[in-house]
Formats: sequence, C-alpha cells, structure tokens
Amino acid sequence: MASEDAVRATNDDASQCKRFAVEKGYWEDPYISLLTSRPQAKHAPEINRGYYARVHGLRVLLEHFLKLTECRCQIVNLGAGFDTTFWVLKDRGLAPKSFIEVDFPILTAQKCRLIKSRKALLEKIVNEAGEISVSSSELHGNNYHLVGANLQNLSDFEKKLEESGFDKTLPTVFVAECVLIYMEMKRTEELVKWISDNITTSFFLNYEQVHMADKFGQVMVDNLKARDCTLPGIKACVSLETQRERFLSRGWDGCDSLEMTHVYNFLPQKEIQRIEKLEFLDERELLDQLFAHYCITWAWKDPTNIGLAEITF
Ligand code: SAM
Repeated sequence: MASEDAVRATNDDASQCKRFAVEKGYWEDPYISLLTSRPQAKHAPEINRGYYARVHGLRVLLEHFLKLTECRCQIVNLGAGFDTTFWVLKDRGLAPKSFIEVDFPILTAQKCRLIKSRKALLEKIVNEAGEISVSSSELHGNNYHLVGANLQNLSDFEKKLEESGFDKTLPTVFVAECVLIYMEMKRTEELVKWISDNITTSFFLNYEQVHMADKFGQVMVDNLKARDCTLPGIKACVSLETQRERFLSRGWDGCDSLEMTHVYNFLPQKEIQRIEKLEFLDERELLDQLFAHYCITWAWKDPTNIGLAEITF
C-alpha cells in the first residue's frame, strides 16, 4: 500500500474503534454508525477504554473553550477523518460559528458521499433555505465545511480555509487527533507557526503518541510500520517536553501536556465508574502502558486575555 493510502487507512481503524466502543455503551454517538461499518473483529476492553479517554479528554477541553467563547468561535479539525464531533456538539447546543474539517481529498470525497446520503447528517448542516454547496470532495453548509487538502501544503490549506469563510480574528481552536505523527516535523512546525502568526486568538488541541523511544513505544512503532505507515513526525513524540516545545518555540503564549494516565483520572469519576463496569479488564498492565504512551497537549495564544490560559482538566 502506498504511504498516503496507509495513513488514510488509519481513519478506518479510528472510526471503527469508536463505533465498537459506542455500541458497547461507552458513550453515546448516534452518528458514527452512519459513517463507518461495524468492525469484523471484537475489540479488547483496553482499546475501548483508551478510546473513551481519548474522545472525552479532548471533549472536556473543547467544551471549556466553547463555553468560554460562548460559541462565538471556530473549530478547525485537522485530519478529521470520519469524526462526528460537529454533529454531537450541535445536538448539545454547542455548535461554533464555523466548524471546518480538513483531510486528504480522497477521504473528504468519501465523507461527502456519506453525508449526502444520510438524512440525519445532512439535515444538521443545511442553511435556513435548506441548501448546501457540494462538489465531489467538498461540502459547505451553514456552519459546517468539509474541505480536501494535504495539511503539509500550507498555501493549499490556507486557500481552503478562505473558501470556508474562515475569520482570522475570531477565537479558533485547532484540533489534531492522532494526525501530526503522520506529517513531516518541519511541516507541522510551519503549520503551528502559521497559526500563531496569523490567527489573533487561538487554541490548539493535540492528541498523540508519546514516549515512543522506550520499549513499548517501539512495539507501537513496529505495529504502525507493519501497516506501511511512515511516521515522519515521531521525534515530537519522544516526551511531553518535545510536545510542548513544538508550540512554545513558535510564538504560542503557553502550552501544557498530560499523559493519558492522568487525563483518565481527571475525567468525571461517576462516568469512569460506569464505564469500568461495562467489561471485565484482565490486562490492567496493557491499559496502563497504552495510557502512558498517549497524551493530550494544549497550547494557547491569547493577547486580549479572554481566559484561554485557564483552560485545563
Ligand atoms: N482525527 C480522526 C480521529 O481521530 O477519528 C482521524 C484520525 S486518523 C488516525 C488520521 C487522519 O489524519 C486520517 O484521516 C488521515 O487521512 C489524516 N491525515 C494525516 N496526514 C494528513 C495530511 N498531511 N493532510 C490531511 N490529512 C491527513
């Protein structure tokens, strides 16, 4: 498989893992089954809990941002794959002014086709007149935009943001969920710097691998490489410091990073008790290892002090 195909295929894995966990009762998401098929194999409880922590860890920080800005903001989902956050937020009355999803055009073309053929997805993005503008790989709705671009090509990315009505003066959160490791370090650094240079008030949420240089990290790398994925961004996944450094040395005001072990402990305990009853976990050690090898990093640039530095778990 060509490397770009292999990277795109990681989306099938992520969306199927999410669907599996949703159907096991970990969390509610009526949309994921409209975008992805049911996985053939059963997934281990450790994987389901890992996905629970991933989705909810990111959501806690995202909702802080939305509440702080009273939804007068934009969300840009980088390497969005078949993510359903836009629809879930809309149902919760937390839709931002604009939600822009970016991925490779082949993948956005698939998502476009699925959205057009699923009423429950489509009806949430049409404008008051019931219209949307659609091409083969892009879709522009009322406050939702799906565009195809290679994130490593900054001018292409910028053009797609412009076509989506992106407003550089509106507080904006950029979300990268398991994406940057697949990009050249230099390209990610350019992207991170471009955001801090060009968007007045911005927040970045990154979920990614960490401690990849140790023994368990090496096993994870070998697993990904066995699926033909190249990992040009891996050097930023060595430690929490390397994760933070990426932002702090490129014009951001501040940055924090937490291993998923700690994120999991900060999630609402009532919910944790509920999900821990769903399945018997016989490999606690494997879950601990997984949690120790993923992290959430969040960075902020807040010149007018709207309170982004206070967003935390
Ligand atoms: N963020 C989604 C989630 O967590 O459910 C999908 C994650 S999947 C592991 C990685 C996604 O990043 C894929 O959809 C892939 O196509 C996208 N991606 C990776 N490199 C990219 C690039 N250079 N430009 C655009 N999309 C990219």
